Amino acid sequence: MKTFNDFDLHADINRALAAKKYSQPTPIQLQAIPVLKQGRDLCGIAQTGTGKTAAFSLPAIHHLLTYPHRANPRGCRMLVLSPTRELAAQIAQSCRDYGRFTELSVATVFGGVPINRQIRDLAQGVDILVATPGRLLDLIDQRALRLDDVEIFVLDEADQMMDMGFIHSLRRIARLLPSRRQNLFFSATMPKEIAGLADQFLNDPVTVSVTPQATTAEKIRQFATFVEQKEKQALLTSVIQREDIDRALIFTRTKHGADRVVRHLAGAKIKAMAIHGNKSQAQRTQALQAFRSGEIKLLVATDIAARGIDVSGVSHVINFEIPNVPEQYVHRIGRTARAGAEGKAISFIAPDERPYMRDIERVTRTRAEPMPLPDNFGELVRSLPRPVQPPRDTGSKGRNPQRQREDAMRGRGPGKPGGDRGPRRDGAAGEGAEGQRKRRFRPRNKSVGAHKGAVKRVG
Ligand code: AMP
Repeated sequence: MKTFNDFDLHADINRALAAKKYSQPTPIQLQAIPVLKQGRDLCGIAQTGTGKTAAFSLPAIHHLLTYPHRANPRGCRMLVLSPTRELAAQIAQSCRDYGRFTELSVATVFGGVPINRQIRDLAQGVDILVATPGRLLDLIDQRALRLDDVEIFVLDEADQMMDMGFIHSLRRIARLLPSRRQNLFFSATMPKEIAGLADQFLNDPVTVSVTPQATTAEKIRQFATFVEQKEKQALLTSVIQREDIDRALIFTRTKHGADRVVRHLAGAKIKAMAIHGNKSQAQRTQALQAFRSGEIKLLVATDIAARGIDVSGVSHVINFEIPNVPEQYVHRIGRTARAGAEGKAISFIAPDERPYMRDIERVTRTRAEPMPLPDNFGELVRSLPRPVQPPRDTGSKGRNPQRQREDAMRGRGPGKPGGDRGPRRDGAAGEGAEGQRKRRFRPRNKSVGAHKGAVKRVG
């Protein structure tokens, strides 16, 4: 069995790995680290949870330490692109952890927070920059950043980037990179369009593909309950009371849907928080921290906001609404059963969602076990407490009361007008894909299945 010592990485990296108590490399680390140390390009088909962040950042840090030189002003030596700010913050934190015994600097830039501090952070140049595409381009346009010194370029979660409409930003960024560089490209799935994008970035790559430690078939027990849409809230309350939950992620399709679930739970005196693209950065960070620390057990999320979030000890994933793209289901339930633990995925299926569940079962080649409605369900539905009223900070503040009444009559929750529309350019989890319910087919792929923005010296 190989250990990290076999990779012959810089001693400061080995110290950090010992501090993290990593004893053995994960499959993607075993495959990718030797190839990357040789300077080859890499195409990795892997999702979050497989250890891919260490797979790309350890050899990159090794390179930065082996060929030491200061980054040029407004430049960076390694650039990592991430679709969402949560994932960007998580990757940056991992780089800080793995580089904690070094002098390497790590910066994070993403939208939704003031740009001036990021401009200051980049002024002296940084070793590792983790960015979302929109904010990266804004910084380039303001001449606060240049990419002509990038030695290692990592594109993470490419399929998610495409879903969020970042393709044009990516093409522009590609044109700004120097031709001599090492490229790493990661995607959970590899349909034709993503493979085409990979071709544009990679030069004679080695391809590695890993099945996540928790595949749909193995460690996750999947259950499905057929229920009317309007009765899902009662079912959720009963599931939460009945199940032995350590931490549960509850998925909704839309941002307003997530807020509604939180309000209903609050009505039943059950504490939960929501995380989605209409929340401020501070609210999202707070919700995630509360969930990580165990202060709250229930986090209600939209797909894009939850993507890439790595929280251990998620015992349950509850699909309050079913995704129309099967791979999204795999991503969702992959949040549980991490690190060999068992997890449960429970899907609430309304009549019009049955075709989606059939697609999911066909693609994943698994079948969810039926979970019947509780005996007293009728009674439960009738006794369901009213949801608490929306708190002021959900976006309704300062809006025209007449408009709010009209929205209520149309069944729309509070929020910014058009808040559920297209993708945002700033990487702020704009969630353009959600709610569109567009049908997409991707070939089945077997391999489907943690701060702040400031520069920090990690030494
Ligand atoms: P990632 O897929 O990069 O998001 O990593 C998923 C989780 O696995 C993170 O919490 C990492 O800290 C952890 N991890 C990565 N590599 C290892 C390893 N070799 N041994 C134990 N944990 C690891």
